[in-house]
Amino acid sequence: MSKFVYLFKEANQSMKNLLGGKGANLGEMTSLGLPIPQGFTVSTEACTQYYEDNQKINETIKKQIFDALAETEKIVGKTFGDNKNPFLVSVRSGARASMPGMMDTILNLGLNDEAVDGLSKQTDNERFAYDSYRRFITMFADVVMEINKSNFEKIFDTKKDEKGVELDTDLTAEDLKEIVESFKDKYEELKGQPFPQDPKEQLILAVEAVFRSWDNPRAQYYRRINNIPYEWGTAVNVQAMVFGNMGDSSGTGVAFTRNPATGEKALYGEYLFNAQGEDVVAGIRTPKPISELEKDNPKIYKQFLEISSKLENHYKDMQDLEFTIEKGTLYILQTRNGKRTAQAALKIAIDMVEEGLLTKKEAVLKVGPSQLDTLLHPQFDPKTIETAQAITEGLNASPGAATGKVVFSAERAAEMAANGDKVILVREETSPEDIEGMAVAEGVLTSRGGMTSHAAVVARGMGTCCVAGAHEVKVNEESLFFTVNGKKFNEGDYISLDGTSGKIYGEKVKTVEATVSGDFAKLMAWADEFRALKVRANADNKRDASQAYDFGAEGIGLCRTEHMFFEGSRIKAVREMIVAKSLEEREKALEKLLPMQKQDFIELYEAMQGHPVTIRYLDPPLHEFLPNEKDDIEDLAKDLGITFEELNSTIEDLHETNPMLGHRGVRLSITYPEIAVMQTRAVIEAAIEVNKNGLDVKPEIMIPLVGEVKELKYVKAEVVKTADQIIKEAGVELQYSVGTMIEIPRAALTAEDIAKEAEFFSFGTNDLTQMGFGFSRDDAGKFLSDYYKKNIFNEDPFAHVDEKGIGRLMTIAVDDGRKTRPDIKLGICGEHGGDPKSVEFCHNIGLTYVSCSPFRVPIARLAAAQANIKNPR
Ligand code: PEP
Ligand code: MG
Repeated sequence: MSKFVYLFKEANQSMKNLLGGKGANLGEMTSLGLPIPQGFTVSTEACTQYYEDNQKINETIKKQIFDALAETEKIVGKTFGDNKNPFLVSVRSGARASMPGMMDTILNLGLNDEAVDGLSKQTDNERFAYDSYRRFITMFADVVMEINKSNFEKIFDTKKDEKGVELDTDLTAEDLKEIVESFKDKYEELKGQPFPQDPKEQLILAVEAVFRSWDNPRAQYYRRINNIPYEWGTAVNVQAMVFGNMGDSSGTGVAFTRNPATGEKALYGEYLFNAQGEDVVAGIRTPKPISELEKDNPKIYKQFLEISSKLENHYKDMQDLEFTIEKGTLYILQTRNGKRTAQAALKIAIDMVEEGLLTKKEAVLKVGPSQLDTLLHPQFDPKTIETAQAITEGLNASPGAATGKVVFSAERAAEMAANGDKVILVREETSPEDIEGMAVAEGVLTSRGGMTSHAAVVARGMGTCCVAGAHEVKVNEESLFFTVNGKKFNEGDYISLDGTSGKIYGEKVKTVEATVSGDFAKLMAWADEFRALKVRANADNKRDASQAYDFGAEGIGLCRTEHMFFEGSRIKAVREMIVAKSLEEREKALEKLLPMQKQDFIELYEAMQGHPVTIRYLDPPLHEFLPNEKDDIEDLAKDLGITFEELNSTIEDLHETNPMLGHRGVRLSITYPEIAVMQTRAVIEAAIEVNKNGLDVKPEIMIPLVGEVKELKYVKAEVVKTADQIIKEAGVELQYSVGTMIEIPRAALTAEDIAKEAEFFSFGTNDLTQMGFGFSRDDAGKFLSDYYKKNIFNEDPFAHVDEKGIGRLMTIAVDDGRKTRPDIKLGICGEHGGDPKSVEFCHNIGLTYVSCSPFRVPIARLAAAQANIKNPR
């Protein structure tokens, strides 16, 4: 019989896939002899089984849960359901990858109308007992029964008002008793049945709720943006409760072993006396910094320091700990590798090498490539920011600079961002429902909550700039405005946030491009020592090419020449070429384009300082260059000296029902070889010119959209004839190569033939995905969202290479291409070339290089290094 439930003492760190991160670490800490409240983990396989059994926990698993509960009772010395000496537990989710705020916790499970009295007598603390019960009812109702918490919060706040008190802790036991009665009435009113009194029923319902939450829309969304497969499932941890709300010798808190915002080596965290876990993160009471614990309770502080450093050394990573002090005794409730900003990640990795805790190789594995993205985005322009006046400030919860329009809800954020607006989400405090809005926002501002509040933790994880707990910001979420010291900001007004300093500006502030320096440069240099894949950039102008070069690109893997055709006066010459009625007319128009195109290539070669440059010949269907509007057509007709009707009929002739599968790519050069001839002249003449000035450029000419070797053979012959003649006439030596993109499935399948002509392959995975799946790359987004919701796809195949299908085409092309040409150069230039997971795949199938947008070059460098460390070539 399969084992679905494990006691903490049976578990260890290596069981993360089965028991989730939290469960595996609780097991590991138990074996390290740390003070861990004991319990057990219901495995991720039980979650999968739950879904296979139509969302039911089957009898086998139930029995294993109750058996593990019986074993835990022995360890704890209490019996579940014993009303005199109640055994209470917490029920918490714990997936393989940490998903902060995505799934919920239930504390104090096991309480009922009788047990609450038992707890009160046993602890001699009636207030504590009823406080625990009211918390349990709220959490159970919210998480298990999906009754909105606000129903209970209203009752609670009304009581506080009635009593004229401000703090929760000012309510008496009697008050809390009355609150519990009202909570139960509310529960019954909304649910149509009384609050469940049987602890075992409560437990099974809670475990089911955690499993169910694995598939809620927030979890789905979080999984998708973090590439977490649905199949993993979540585990559930059932752990003996310890109480931080037993009076002033009790408390609870969270701490990081280093500063998660800056990486500084110092214990960093917050705690509250006489409180339970959610009080710290909910932002209702303002927690104290952990350093004050040293004064409040030096003994516990010392013990905590020892444990945190032991854990950091053990896991060789910065830890994020949750702890509770129950009547002067310290317990650790969980540990995990802490989420951190990109700056902190770099600093911690480098410091740990200097401290001798990590090798350089290990340090390179510690920084998530996608995280670097935040460092590559603009920062505030130092000059402008000097003169900008901050209106107030909050906590510098997640660094970076953000400027955008104020919005007050996640939905508005998503709507406005979809319209191309840059937005800043302003809320009192965020909750898991806001996750989608946070992901599209430039920055997040909250008026409540500390450095470990939901907003702070989630924003840091996403790399979104965040200023939290700005108390002077008075938010009115319903009426869509906020005020700061009397100044009012409405939805749509601009503000700017500095997540590094915590300052808030009531205006737009100019930003500047990022650079790779300091810790960033150091880690990148280490990464370069370990990588086998080369990293190039997709760039088609001087500015992008220089940016890419500064970010460490080792060449250009894709210059889309059509982008050069749209600029300024060129479009006119391009249009002349398109509507030309004869070869002579077309050649005349191409003559006009030649010097411009040549100049483009000179600039690119120079920007790359002799590194390889791959130039792809004209790819899109010609009609994309023609005007659509009547006025524009009239203007162009006048310029060309032809009638409106004549031009209009040419445009109509060029119309295609399915242009993506139409007259584009190599097909254009087959119909109009003179286009390829002009582009060859420009490529070769430009190279000759820059090489005269000391560079050693060897142009790589790339023919797009080939599906049959004879297409390539035909165009290549034109290219070679032209190139060789120019080189001969110039009396110079110039090496160049002609290759193709592999972006049509047939090209991948006939790569052995294609390699006879192609001197290199570059995978165009945008088109290969489009044609491999038969999904239009322009329209698939509209229906893929249904695929995610229905768990048909976990991720967007246009963002991450579909290894099984599209990846298989790539592997066939790699293997077969090498049969013909063993040393064939192999690259990728689709969007996937900058996606860390796809970069790893490209490394594993043996490509020579990846090529991506300039801003993703450092990400690809790091991903390539990690791939080679994990699977050396
Ligand atoms: C591709 O298809 O992957 C590619 C790089 O070409 P484009 O995106 O220009 O079609
Ligand atoms: Mg393409």
